[in-house]
Amino acid sequence: MPSPTPTTSRPAATPAPTRGPTRITSVDITPVAFADPPLLNTVGVHEPFALRAIVQVHTDAGATGLGETYGDAAHLGRLRLAADAVLGADPFNINSLRALITHSLDGDTSRGGHGMSGMVTGSSTADRVLSAFDVAALDIQGRLLGVPVSDLLGGAVRPSVPFSGYLFYKWAGRPGAPADAWGEALDPEGVVEQARRMVRDYGFTALKLKGGVFPPDEEAAAIEALHSQFPRIALRIDPNGAWSVPTSVAVARRLESQLEYLEDPTTGLEAMAEVRRQTRLPLATNMCVVSFADIPPAIAAGSVDIVLSDHHFWGGLRRSQTLAGLAETFGLGLSMHSNSHLGISLAAMVHLAAATPNLDYACDTHWPWKDPADDVVAPGVLGFRDGAVAVPTGPGLGIELDHDALERLHRQYLDCGIRERDDTGYMRRVHPDYELKAPRW
Ligand SMILES: [Mg+2]
Repeated sequence: MPSPTPTTSRPAATPAPTRGPTRITSVDITPVAFADPPLLNTVGVHEPFALRAIVQVHTDAGATGLGETYGDAAHLGRLRLAADAVLGADPFNINSLRALITHSLDGDTSRGGHGMSGMVTGSSTADRVLSAFDVAALDIQGRLLGVPVSDLLGGAVRPSVPFSGYLFYKWAGRPGAPADAWGEALDPEGVVEQARRMVRDYGFTALKLKGGVFPPDEEAAAIEALHSQFPRIALRIDPNGAWSVPTSVAVARRLESQLEYLEDPTTGLEAMAEVRRQTRLPLATNMCVVSFADIPPAIAAGSVDIVLSDHHFWGGLRRSQTLAGLAETFGLGLSMHSNSHLGISLAAMVHLAAATPNLDYACDTHWPWKDPADDVVAPGVLGFRDGAVAVPTGPGLGIELDHDALERLHRQYLDCGIRERDDTGYMRRVHPDYELKAPRW
């Protein structure tokens, strides 16, 4: 019997590795602050400055990776623990970074500092810390290999990423100060006017209203006004769990034909499931499914249709793709949540969304609320066209740090005196009788 012919083809010789060992030599963590308008939500109002932390991971290979995350004091402390732990580690081995960072937080007893003003729990603290290092490591990898981060995540399936314009009820200006450039939005007319400007300036094809501020009837009327003015734009409302189950069901039924989805109408997996049984409207969340541990009970209870991913609290870009795989497995839709953020986060969001096929809802962004001059990223790469941001094509995240701007925004942090996000405390300084209530209606 002749021996079978091998069917596997092999190269004549194994190519030599082209990459030597790479080590993290130092990490800079720089808290920054940027001006934020008085945007209202169900726990208060945005303070005059939003906080972020900029993470620079330096290597012995000459590449520095960038990450951006929350800037609250307790989170900064955890970032510093993690920064010490990853010194000497290989930025190509994100599994090792994750183990080192998780271990570095073993003795951490600090609480809070998650930058979400109490609206999302701290159930995934290690993932929140890991995120900025994961993004920076992927930035380093891309820079050294000469490929964009979207390639490292499996390849872009879309050349640009659509975003949703984020509408807020807002005061005309800060108490005692003149009106800001956006002016007041405290009723349906104000919300429609704000939407008109966002659509005109950015071309958004989806709009989301932050609710939970006024009685649900008034907020439903704002959605109806938006629908009549922008019939082809996908609409969402997010009251951050401010409504009871009966209120949520009533609003869902009223807006069933006008919303793309209803986000966190009520609080908790069971209450969300109860609402979901009584409406055909898809329910979305970034409050009751915020970590991997939340997924099994959410599936068991039938709590939601859509999960809003957010690499800042799901452990970075690669773990956000793990979430995407679970969403695909269990038939959940995938959208993206945002907090006030700068350009490093926007670039990371765009690479992730571009390389995640089932992330096909327009992503949230607070971008229009930021003064364009307030950023740590050198201008020229990130911009909105027809409501979408083109995927950067340069190596890594495809953006560069503006060191002068970083220094200026750090100075702003030092001067502003804010060390953790506290929307409720700020509201009470303006309205001392302001009460937190859940559900509010
Ligand atoms: Mg939300």
